[in-house]
Amino acid sequence: MEIHYIDSWPQPYSQMDAAPYWAALQEEGLTFQRCTDCRETVWPAKSHCPNCGKRALVWEGSKGKGKVYSFSTIMRGPTPAWQAIVPYTVGFVEMEEGYILFTQFDCAPDAIKIGDAVSVRYIKRGEQTLPIFGPAS
Ligand SMILES: [Zn+2]
Repeated sequence: MEIHYIDSWPQPYSQMDAAPYWAALQEEGLTFQRCTDCRETVWPAKSHCPNCGKRALVWEGSKGKGKVYSFSTIMRGPTPAWQAIVPYTVGFVEMEEGYILFTQFDCAPDAIKIGDAVSVRYIKRGEQTLPIFGPAS
């Protein structure tokens, strides 16, 4: 049986609007966009505010805290890198700042439930540092 190592992680597809997000992650910073006109928080990254239509989005640092909005545990990984870490849990976190972030949870599947407080930590996958959430510390 062929063994696959975790250093062969596929790298995330980075859209131009989100380049500052990926750059901040490399320094273990979690960022999101906010509209300076209507104050709405915006994620995923856009060029214009989806709420008011203005081109008035700026980047802000997140506190990295939120609540579990939903999650699902993956038992069969889609690629060898993911297969090597099953079971793993992914889902959405409702961040304190008001936006929703899709992420992986860094804990056993039965260690979280919807509404639980979670906070960010960071994990290096290949060249990219990524946010991963676990029970709030
Ligand atoms: Zn706006």
